[in-house]
Amino acid sequence: MHIPSIEVHKAATLQEASALLGRFSPDVRLLAGGTDVLVDLKTARFSVGHLVALGGIKKLRGVTEERDGLRIGALTTITELDRSPLVAGAYAALRDATSRMATPQVRNAATVGGNVAGAVPCADLPPILIAMNATALLSSDKGERTVALEDLVVGPRTTVLRDNELLAAVNVPRPPERFGAAYARFGLREANAIAVAGVAVALALNDDRTVRSARIALCAVAPAPKFVKEATRLLVGRVLDERACAQAAALAMEAAEPISDLRGSAEYRRELVGTLTRRALAAAHQRIGR
Ligand SMILES: Cc1cc2nc3c(=O)[nH]c(=O)nc-3n(C[C@H](O)[C@H](O)[C@H](O)COP(=O)(O)OP(=O)(O)OC[C@H]3O[C@@H](n4cnc5c(N)ncnc54)[C@H](O)[C@@H]3O)c2cc1C
Repeated sequence: MHIPSIEVHKAATLQEASALLGRFSPDVRLLAGGTDVLVDLKTARFSVGHLVALGGIKKLRGVTEERDGLRIGALTTITELDRSPLVAGAYAALRDATSRMATPQVRNAATVGGNVAGAVPCADLPPILIAMNATALLSSDKGERTVALEDLVVGPRTTVLRDNELLAAVNVPRPPERFGAAYARFGLREANAIAVAGVAVALALNDDRTVRSARIALCAVAPAPKFVKEATRLLVGRVLDERACAQAAALAMEAAEPISDLRGSAEYRRELVGTLTRRALAAAHQRIGR
């Protein structure tokens, strides 16, 4: 397995990266941590003549606290996100994903941008980000736009990004009072195994403990991360008792569009979605506390 001859262009700014994408499209890919794109090139999943390396764009790195929430630069590595002191309190649910994906070596190189915009169906960050109502900041030499994270990915390795656009950052809004979130995943091993199914839940409660908002998102069980809209309608205004959890789990199972592969059958994945939804609901609810 050799990587074919490729020209690598080092971009120093977002504008430069965008211009290079526009110039070489469609014969081009972005190179962030390289943990997916280099494997794909080696295994000839696709071939391109050009890579635009993002490593020199300082503006894309790091986690910062803004007035309305957390800004996670696209080049922030999974390890940096996992260890950020800003990922605390209600934001700490992000660690359910960052602490469990891949291996420490991979997490040191893999970036948030690659995990989200790479649009691989089993990627672990998208469900918890969608549940937490995150948005994606897309940037090009023509300007910026924001899309809800659930609208970014439309199929396997396919996003709404235009030819000259890249993901600059993910913004996670400041969680409201009485908020809890959790991500539950199942892999065939404890470490270094991609998710067979994953479910993220974010809940906010009213003073009387009824549900004020609820968001459930799935991964690895559909061509793209799946936001289970119907679960929001089902849960809002109710107390999160066993019946409500069972009904939400049933809705998530219905929303899943799993395939059968070497990691599990479609039926098995659908069952997992039910179990993981109940687990994530319980964990998110418990994190809200009294
Ligand atoms: C051994 C191994 C185990 C793994 N296990 C897991 C796992 O358990 N869970 C999991 O979720 N992932 C896993 N992965 C996949 C991978 O590590 C992650 O998806 C990673 O976060 C991708 O980020 P990257 O920076 O390496 O992306 P790259 O490989 O550099 O890029 C991946 C894709 O994203 C695009 N891209 C990158 N940055 C941007 C941007 N800013 N804007 C637009 N497009 C962009 C690239 O063009 C490319 O198409 C594993 C990988 C390996 C090799």
